[in-house]
Amino acid sequence: TIELKKIQKKYGEKVVLDNVSLSIKKGEVVSVIGPSGAGKSTLLRCINFLEVPSGGEIIIEGQPIQYSVNSIGQLTLMSKIKMSKVRSKVGMVFQHFNLWKHKTVLENIIEGPIIVKKKTKAEAIEKADELLNKVGLYEKRNDHPSDLSGGQQQRIAIARALAMEPTVMLFDECTSALDPELVGEVLQIMTDLAKEGMTMMIVTHEMRFAKQVSDRVIFMENGRIVVEGSPTQIFDSNDNDRVTRFLSSIQ
Ligand code: ATP
Ligand code: MG
Repeated sequence: TIELKKIQKKYGEKVVLDNVSLSIKKGEVVSVIGPSGAGKSTLLRCINFLEVPSGGEIIIEGQPIQYSVNSIGQLTLMSKIKMSKVRSKVGMVFQHFNLWKHKTVLENIIEGPIIVKKKTKAEAIEKADELLNKVGLYEKRNDHPSDLSGGQQQRIAIARALAMEPTVMLFDECTSALDPELVGEVLQIMTDLAKEGMTMMIVTHEMRFAKQVSDRVIFMENGRIVVEGSPTQIFDSNDNDRVTRFLSSIQ
């Protein structure tokens, strides 16, 4: 379970997240949609402290994450070790995969578990191979990222995040940079994960996918959650003008 209580984020005077409260149950899949600049990425980035919230509380599996921010916006009172522990619980996959170019696929996946989770190399490799099979890329384990297609690289990025055994996975437009014919293979992996009961929060422009995979859909605008509901409530009803306008603008 993840709970966000009144998360606020400001850049200078500009309020980017305006008291966002949200709770995601174990195994729940929540999609976040909304116009550009709504604060979707910022919200995801706050959950694993890639951005430091200006206020509010984040509770992961019942544990409030202690943080505080000094006058110049730096995170304090949280040791680096605790920080990496929080991050390892929250897996994140981005639009650009950020794989290490000079490492093989396998090395990319085992690095985090060895360094952060103190696994032995053998343990890390065993888990990595299992995940490579899961994303259908076991035969690429000794290749370098540049030898893979964008879709394959993104599947490796997902495997790398899963190798940390996160309790929740965050996806930020992870298919937006892909050629259209490569989008499906990544969405398929995400669908499989959802079916296995992974807790997921997905920022996406793939509305058909969001409708199929989500338990709940959140529409954000101007740093706020404007509407939330079941996929049917969000996509098949015309109850909310702003949602309707947004959905027709992206068709
Ligand atoms: P998109 O759909 O385009 O990805 P988004 O909903 O993810 O949009 P965010 O990237 O979260 O939106 O940005 C929300 C607002 O915060 C935007 O107005 C953006 O300009 C602003 N913003 C984001 N990062 C910074 C930053 N480092 N400094 C100042 N403003 C920022
Ligand atoms: Mg974004």
